[in-house]
Amino acid sequence: MEQYELLWQYQQVDMELDQYEKEMRNNSNRKELLKHRDFLLEQQNVLKKIETDVEVMADRMAALADEIKRLSGSVAEATANLENNRPENLEDVKKQMASLQKLVATLSRYEAELAKMRKDSEARDRQQREVRVRAAKARAEFDRIKVIYDEEYKVAVVKLEELKQKVAKEAKGIDADLLEKYKAIKRHAMPPITRLHEDRCGGCNMQLSAADKDRVRTGVPYVECENCGRIILVR
Ligand SMILES: [Zn+2]
Repeated sequence: MEQYELLWQYQQVDMELDQYEKEMRNNSNRKELLKHRDFLLEQQNVLKKIETDVEVMADRMAALADEIKRLSGSVAEATANLENNRPENLEDVKKQMASLQKLVATLSRYEAELAKMRKDSEARDRQQREVRVRAAKARAEFDRIKVIYDEEYKVAVVKLEELKQKVAKEAKGIDADLLEKYKAIKRHAMPPITRLHEDRCGGCNMQLSAADKDRVRTGVPYVECENCGRIILVR
């Protein structure tokens, strides 16, 4: 048989294989699995982010607690000082009271901040639990679908192998360079081989050039489309 006719037959099974691979990729359970996998990855990232937040908050809370302890000591000291060493005049009283009030104000500001951080931290804990529950549900659903999909895949892969063998069988007898050419065209035009329709390319519908029409008249087995690069079988 003519090389180009062999190639035409090869293309039929090659397209069949491509179509089957596409169907396998579009398997609804496979898509569901990918969706759940992406969701799980996303939840892992959320958890990581929460963990980092919690760490930063824990550091800040520890620093605040230290500062509160230190300030409480200062307040106690200033109070004791005020009581034990009676100020000599009103001006002195005012000065010491002002400094004490300032300490107390700072202290309560820190305490308020610490209380708010504790609340935030609890909210993060709740969030973390919710994410874990959501992730566990997604994981269970992933596992459930995986079992079904694995079975489907086992069956599909048998047919896939059959098709691959069929393609390999059809490739026998075709010139290696020609097969390479086919694969090169396939990268940008599908299917790579077409037939002549009237005087047009069966792939892109472009009319042949005058030169190619002449070549067809001389009986060449094929021409190459100037527009899409496909091999156009003449017969
Ligand atoms: Zn074309």
